[in-house]
Amino acid sequence: MKTVIRILRHILPYKKNLAISSTAMFFSVVFNMATVILVIPFINVLFDPVYPTPQPVPPFTIGTFKGWAFAQMNNVMASTDAVTALKYLCVMIIGAFFFKNLFQYAQSWSMAPAEQGIIRDLRRNLYEHMNRLSLSYFTEEKKGMLMSRIISDVQLVNDSAIAVVNSLFRDPPQILVYTVILLVIDWQLTLIAFILLPVTGYILTKIGNWVKRESDVLQESIARLTSVLDEGLSSMRIIRAFRTEQYEIRKFGTENQAYYQTFVGIKRRRDMASPITETLSVLVVVVILWFMGDAILSGRSGMSSGVFVAYIFAMLQMMQPLKYFGQTVNHISQGVAGAERVFSVLDIQPRIVDREGATDIDSFRDRIIFDDVRFRYDTGEEVLSGVNIEIKAGEVVAIVGPSGVGKSTLVDLVPRFYDVTSGAVRIDGRDIRDITVRSLRGLMGIVTQETFLFNATIRENIAYGESEVDMDRVFAAARAANAHDFILETPQGYETVIGDRGVKLSGGQRQRLSIARAIYKNPPILILDEATSSLDTESEVLVQKAIENLMEGRTSIVIAHRLSTIQRANRIYVLNTGGVEETGTHSELLARDGLYKRLYEMQFHL
Ligand code: ADP
Repeated sequence: MKTVIRILRHILPYKKNLAISSTAMFFSVVFNMATVILVIPFINVLFDPVYPTPQPVPPFTIGTFKGWAFAQMNNVMASTDAVTALKYLCVMIIGAFFFKNLFQYAQSWSMAPAEQGIIRDLRRNLYEHMNRLSLSYFTEEKKGMLMSRIISDVQLVNDSAIAVVNSLFRDPPQILVYTVILLVIDWQLTLIAFILLPVTGYILTKIGNWVKRESDVLQESIARLTSVLDEGLSSMRIIRAFRTEQYEIRKFGTENQAYYQTFVGIKRRRDMASPITETLSVLVVVVILWFMGDAILSGRSGMSSGVFVAYIFAMLQMMQPLKYFGQTVNHISQGVAGAERVFSVLDIQPRIVDREGATDIDSFRDRIIFDDVRFRYDTGEEVLSGVNIEIKAGEVVAIVGPSGVGKSTLVDLVPRFYDVTSGAVRIDGRDIRDITVRSLRGLMGIVTQETFLFNATIRENIAYGESEVDMDRVFAAARAANAHDFILETPQGYETVIGDRGVKLSGGQRQRLSIARAIYKNPPILILDEATSSLDTESEVLVQKAIENLMEGRTSIVIAHRLSTIQRANRIYVLNTGGVEETGTHSELLARDGLYKRLYEMQFHL
């Protein structure tokens, strides 16, 4: 129930649409009622042996309402002849149906923005939320899962939100009106019918619950399929090289088949709801028909043929909203399942948030200090156990060490991709947790091994995130990154789209573009994870020079793999399991004949 209320809250912004829609619905129901009532005189004119003559009208009270209404109708009929009455009735029936449908359309027309709006709003909320979540979340949860939350679960929520709205605003008024008509015509019969309805309702709820459980399984299945697909597509090169196509195809096939089976199962069950409802409805109608027929044949009921037909007509008309109402149960239970999954993502608290009282930092002047920093990921051992590091403004500090000792983890702490488990990282004496995340990251440029470029123009990639692009700065950044020349050689220069839909770039070119991006941002602090894979000598020289330009006049923390960077570093921290093992300059460390020397000899084959 809490979930349903939470879904309904997303409908609130569309109050206006709901209001228009309910008004239209009201009129549609009124005309619907008129169609049923108009049937009565029509059939009577055709099949009753005597044409109505004027009769006295009983006083109008609740108790005599039925007699009053029939007498009124009788007298209107009596005031004209049969053929004219038929003509008028035909016109009126057409009119009533026309307006009923017109208002019905108006109802769905005004609901459409609300229906789609809920989807859009939820997707936006989810995506915004994902952008706030800590990075740790994205390694824990698979991308496929998140994508399925955004695409298919949101759709489920939407379906159920619409179902809820319809079941509140569309179906109940219709059901109510028909019930009233049926009760007025013959309340005993109607009561019999209504005793049968709860049975139908119970069966439908059972089916609904059954579908809800299955829909959970289906969503998990979609998520797994998406993960396998994502993984497969991102590693096509490896798959080819290892000739594991068949293996991957089988892996995909297994998930695909699982999805297929789950879906077929669900579809079969879901589709059962509708025929079962209809069969049950017909059963109810037939029981009623039997009771009516029996009463009329035995002379216990003085029902005119028109009233008889109208009663059946009203009963059949009511089946449609009742059926929808039954399906609503399904939709709601599926949607609640989807909503619970969506809300479970929305409910995750972002861990890296601004503290109460956090203030902006607008410059970096003095030093960055790691003060007895300990860190562990949620899963696993302590990666850093008591690290002390000092980086003075303007210095180049290199971090080296065997792979897996926590070099990336260490530098990730500076922009607060993660927060320390204990100890502190300080910038100019301030604990970085007392600084707003936005302003802290504003001080930093980050160039990683995987040079991620967006599927956009070169200009947009360099001036990433800037709405006002200063082209002179873009040119300057590209020149400093040794990228200007090759950019000019691309088909549209700076306006060339790169990535999936555009020109492909070489590894070195990609690196130089991401360096240009960092130069354009012009941050005082640079965090650089040097690429381990070596480029061809010419590219290497160009990238090397670009990196030197990038470091110029900044404070750099570099996970270093290149000899030139290492030689140039003011200080090298050699990390080994748990913490810093050695510190010093290149020559000091070599002289010490420790871990650094071994690493150095291994890496540079000395
Ligand atoms: P390096 O950069 O020195 O190769 P990392 O900082 O990447 O090392 O990793 C240090 C340790 O932390 C490794 O044992 C790695 O398995 C673990 N680790 C890295 N990232 C995560 C993560 N997101 N969640 C859990 N453990 C992680």
